[in-house]
Amino acid sequence: MARKELPKATRVFRHFSEITPEILSEYGIKGIMTDLDDTLVEHNYPTPKEDVLLWLESIEKAGIPICIVSNNRRRRVLSFIKSLNLGIFHNSMKPSPRPIYKAMEVMGITPEESVFVGDQLFTDIKGANNAGIKSFLVDPIGNKATLFIRFKRRLEKRTRKG
Ligand SMILES: [Mg+2]
Repeated sequence: MARKELPKATRVFRHFSEITPEILSEYGIKGIMTDLDDTLVEHNYPTPKEDVLLWLESIEKAGIPICIVSNNRRRRVLSFIKSLNLGIFHNSMKPSPRPIYKAMEVMGITPEESVFVGDQLFTDIKGANNAGIKSFLVDPIGNKATLFIRFKRRLEKRTRKG
């Protein structure tokens, strides 16, 4: 695959907690869509950790709604968010832009006001590109990646450097 064909993120962060309300306002963001596994917690980790709760709280305080858009199953996503006041889209089939269109509709925001936060170039960032919205790439939290994910990570590393 030629390097120029790799999906490109608007900005790269090491961790979701670096994405502050100040940075969001810098980009004119009025609503966030975020991946779940390896973006907020390790793959299939059952509950939000303290850092996730604090981050969600700070974003909520800034009046910015958040939707979780995950390719994982309904049961996994539902049990993770439990009492949290978040929109969720499970079995999303990213990089399909369709769940992103739906999430924008739910949050009442335009593509210019939207950002997708995720750890994978070929699902999260490509999905954002396909929907014509901004994207923030974060380093994957876990390291229990499958072989296929590891292969994709190698390609991703090249773009992180570039
Ligand atoms: Mg992920």
